[in-house]
Amino acid sequence: MKWLIGAHTAGEHPIDEIVERDADLCQFFLSDPQGWKKPPEREDAAELVASGARLYIHAPYLMNLASPNNRIRIPSRKNLAQTVEAAEAIGAAGVIVHGGHVGDDEDIAVGYERWRKALDTFESSVPVLIENTAGGGHAVVRDLENYGPLWEKIGDYNVGTVLDTCHAWAGGSPLENASQIIIAATGKVDLVHCNDSRDPFDSRRDRHANLGAGEIPGDVLAACVVAAQAPIVVETPGDAAQHKADIAWLRERL
Ligand SMILES: [Zn+2]
Repeated sequence: MKWLIGAHTAGEHPIDEIVERDADLCQFFLSDPQGWKKPPEREDAAELVASGARLYIHAPYLMNLASPNNRIRIPSRKNLAQTVEAAEAIGAAGVIVHGGHVGDDEDIAVGYERWRKALDTFESSVPVLIENTAGGGHAVVRDLENYGPLWEKIGDYNVGTVLDTCHAWAGGSPLENASQIIIAATGKVDLVHCNDSRDPFDSRRDRHANLGAGEIPGDVLAACVVAAQAPIVVETPGDAAQHKADIAWLRERL
């Protein structure tokens, strides 16, 4: 298989970011990751579509579609619909959203239903790719087995999966079968976030490291990525040169 690999980058000039890293794709934000503002229209939208570049959009971090709190859940829905629309305008390949978390006293199953309601509020040609997260006992998809019951609720919508290797490791899911669990539950992994972890297995901490520089054994990380059979984004620290080194590290091992 021809592996498509890129990095999370700044969003102003995505094509340049891809070229600078000898990459095949990139991922970026369309709006402030810590805000609720609607993504602004991009003047380069037609140019990006025409370029055919493979672009992934990461939704803001504030978003929590599974929240018990209306004042978070409702703006999250609205912002997701707006982000997906803006992603469609630039011909993006997917919008990545964290699985989110329910309240401390709630059953995780209410989160699956809140996801269904959110996806029911808009239509899009761009898939919403739901990413596993590292922390919290009430995270919707910290436990990768939860993709199964989540997909029973939302599998008919335009959705897909993102496996973040740092989140799985820190969240206590062995990488030896992480890809296989998601594939068994949903059919496939749509995107891998290939990150090493600064913290030990099951630490519940989310701190990414450059590939080979963290706690995840290199062969385990590479085998997990191979098993996923999906495009890859590195969300590692550093500048373009560092990303280029991470991409090269990965290419040597795939
Ligand atoms: Zn990630």
